[in-house]
Amino acid sequence: MSAPYEVLLYYKYSRIADPEAYAAQHRALCQKLQLKGRILIAQEGINGTVSGLVADTAEYRRVLDADPLTSDIAWKIDPSEEHVFPKLSIKVREEVVTLDLGQDDFSPEDLTATHLKPDEWRQAMQEDNVVMIDARNDYEWEIGRFEGALLPAVPSFRDLPQWVRDHREQLEGKKILTYCTGGIRCEKFSGFLLNEGLSDVYQLDGGIVSYGKAESVKGEGFEGECYVFDERLSVPVNRTEGASIISHCAICDEPSIRYRNCGWKPCNAQFFCCERCEAESGRFCEPICKEAATTCSIAVTG
Ligand SMILES: [Zn+2]
Ligand SMILES: [Zn+2]
Repeated sequence: MSAPYEVLLYYKYSRIADPEAYAAQHRALCQKLQLKGRILIAQEGINGTVSGLVADTAEYRRVLDADPLTSDIAWKIDPSEEHVFPKLSIKVREEVVTLDLGQDDFSPEDLTATHLKPDEWRQAMQEDNVVMIDARNDYEWEIGRFEGALLPAVPSFRDLPQWVRDHREQLEGKKILTYCTGGIRCEKFSGFLLNEGLSDVYQLDGGIVSYGKAESVKGEGFEGECYVFDERLSVPVNRTEGASIISHCAICDEPSIRYRNCGWKPCNAQFFCCERCEAESGRFCEPICKEAATTCSIAVTG
């Protein structure tokens, strides 16, 4: 039997003249369809990830596909047994992704790098004189990334431009490949690289999520899992024999992709914690968190 729910991940750059009005309409649509998830709306477009019953997500896709503002979305669709978000959140922002470029800002509709399909990407990543840049945040690539990629130690997307300027010598004269979760951040980031005078730049079409679904590559060359911004925390990518786990349980150091939030609420840090360790000693990222949780349990309830 097929799964009763679907998780959608999508984006579309287009001109939304009145984002507030569009957001109100969009909220009514999502509520009618009982979708949950996170949607950002800006004058430059829409970026979202939602879950819902299959009939409802299908209707949502039909409505957006029929609207000239949001037609031709490359939907990424995952089956699911349940909702993967606790609620619906729709926010209006200045930009759908923020690089903080100030007066150097541009629209990916005007400037973005060439897209590579998964099989083209797999080929390109094995060429000489190539660098791959993981355009995501540090807590995302910790759980999985393409083998050999440069991993900028940045906590936020807006820190990437400075990272590029600091690591320019590693990029100069190279063929540059950029990737992210679903592709939207690279639309902007690859355009930024071109603006910086780096000319040989390519982006992974549809991001890691599409790469993992493509039968032509089956996720080959990706190690670990792909971080996602919902209750699943990560999804598998590599379906080949060579699939490996790169992250380790913070307590026992055994390979583990089990990302969890620390059980000491004021800490709440995400860390890797294997099933056995959680069962034996609780879900705490540091001994001090465990101690705090057991001694101050009354103080943190409610
Ligand atoms: Zn462990
Ligand atoms: Zn902790």
